[in-house]
Amino acid sequence: MQYDIALFSELCDTLFEAEINQPVAKPIPTSELYNQLDLSLHKEGIIDKQLKNTLKTVIKSTPKTASKSFFNQLFGGRVGKAALGDLLAVMLNNSMYTYKVAGPQVGIEKQVLKAICKLAGYKNDSDGTFAPGGSMSNMMALIMARDHKNEAIRAEGLSKQMTLYTSKESHYSISKNAALTGIGRNQVRLVNTNSKGEMLADHLEELVSKDINEGFEPFFVNATAGTTVLGAFDNVDNISKVCKKYKLWLHVDGAYCGGVIFSSKYKHLIKGLEHSDSFSVNAHKMLGTPLSCSIIVTQHKAQLHHSFSNEADYLYQTDGDDFNLGKTSMQCGRRNDALKIWTLWKSVGTNGLETIVDKQFEMANLARDYINNHKDYTLYSFNDSISVCFNYKGIPANELCTALYENSELMVGFGKFNNQEFVRMVTINSLLEKEDILAFFKTLETFVSNELLN
Ligand SMILES: *Cc1c(COP(=O)(O)O)cnc(C)c1O
Repeated sequence: MQYDIALFSELCDTLFEAEINQPVAKPIPTSELYNQLDLSLHKEGIIDKQLKNTLKTVIKSTPKTASKSFFNQLFGGRVGKAALGDLLAVMLNNSMYTYKVAGPQVGIEKQVLKAICKLAGYKNDSDGTFAPGGSMSNMMALIMARDHKNEAIRAEGLSKQMTLYTSKESHYSISKNAALTGIGRNQVRLVNTNSKGEMLADHLEELVSKDINEGFEPFFVNATAGTTVLGAFDNVDNISKVCKKYKLWLHVDGAYCGGVIFSSKYKHLIKGLEHSDSFSVNAHKMLGTPLSCSIIVTQHKAQLHHSFSNEADYLYQTDGDDFNLGKTSMQCGRRNDALKIWTLWKSVGTNGLETIVDKQFEMANLARDYINNHKDYTLYSFNDSISVCFNYKGIPANELCTALYENSELMVGFGKFNNQEFVRMVTINSLLEKEDILAFFKTLETFVSNELLN
């Protein structure tokens, strides 16, 4: 093992070097992947020196999500203390289901959950858990809402057609989860948004009352804090009033931008969160931890337990339910995802997490200013968002992003809203500085003029 740790350290150096020297790895066409890299498995093993070289080659051609040229996804960068916590979790290798097996790691998870509940404005009766990702957090919310409406469903299954509501701009996991939980995709109602991509509470109410008249049973509303394309925030306050009136469970999907609860400057974007029934946030997005680190909290502690506990004599042999976290989780054996966010939080404090979140908005503001001050650009996104959407010289976004990627220049994706397609630059890497944002535009402009794309 000592040898492997030394090897790991050497491989990290290879990675760090590659991140600087070739921040966008040369993409390998899928048709050539198995020819270019030695990925096949054989009856006989290879000697350590060969293994080391193979691993180095794989590292070099793997996309560099922590590099300064990665703006492609809703995560990116590498925050040292969070990575440290995750590496430790691998070495400790606990499973979070029981106190007997995870010990103080249970306390670590509970402290994170308690602090998130507090920041969300949730009361004493709140609790939560770590899910395998934001999609699964949304599924846990949906299941709690379903059981909350009708406790018999856990034993008997669905007996009525239950309907749920989410905006047109929300994450696809809402529909997928409806299919997975027996609710059915056709029972998902897509609520219209305003011109900024925020859910319209009036239209929500219209859809709910129509469904009630037609004999459906509305039970769940999903509001989004940071929509996937534009990074828009649904108005939780207004939506919560409709939910209260019709007794609907309100979930706030903050996978992308729920991290604003840490920022005194930006938490107003999620105003009214304390009126929601559940809330999820991916620490691997705005808070900068490694994948995956998804947290779901609810104001209905008992419901979390009812929906996810199951007796198992062979597992729960010591300690109370409060410390045997398997009683409130989706999985049985569960990876320790809490240690990475806890290590970071402990190290930089709540104030440090606020700085991490604010920095992303600062960089987005800078990018928007640049776009507004340069006439070859058209801006499509809005203030108070870390998704900066634009087009350059009218070049189709899809063509531009693909060419930048294939030529190892930049990793950035494209999106669509109101039939307009645009480049979506995400300033989620809190380690980036002003010069990195300016370098992004400079690279893009030089590339376009050299390639004569325009
Ligand atoms: C990323 C995201 C999800 C899904 O989270 P995963 O961890 O990728 O499963 C859900 N909702 C929103 C708004 C997201 O941005």
